[in-house]
Amino acid sequence: MVRSSRRSASPEIPPPPADMAPLSWLKWFRHAVDELVPALGRVRAEQQVYEAARAEFHRRDRRQPSPSICAGCLKPIEDDGDRLMIDGVAVHARRASCRSDATFRRLRADRMQLHALGLTPPKGGR
Ligand SMILES: [Zn+2]
Repeated sequence: MVRSSRRSASPEIPPPPADMAPLSWLKWFRHAVDELVPALGRVRAEQQVYEAARAEFHRRDRRQPSPSICAGCLKPIEDDGDRLMIDGVAVHARRASCRSDATFRRLRADRMQLHALGLTPPKGGR
């Protein structure tokens, strides 16, 4: 593992493990937090590493249920142009609640996956 430069204003988070083994992720999480603690303190370090883990899951998990099903309300989207792609999933374009519900579902799914790997949201996190 390459150590980030001590001169750097914002320390870099080491790359997450390529596999999905809980032990790998726990080891990576602890190591990454330890790397950031001197610059950020424990609370901010844990928050940043958790968000990095969540973003990585989000990037890897590109499950598109179906482009004809809204990821927000889970109802069919008619082929009348009422389709908006956000974050890789289709939602009803004219309903703001579909967009926010899709985002909420995504966030919850990410957290459930991280929880399955033993990572829980740090105190003070979003
Ligand atoms: Zn919808």
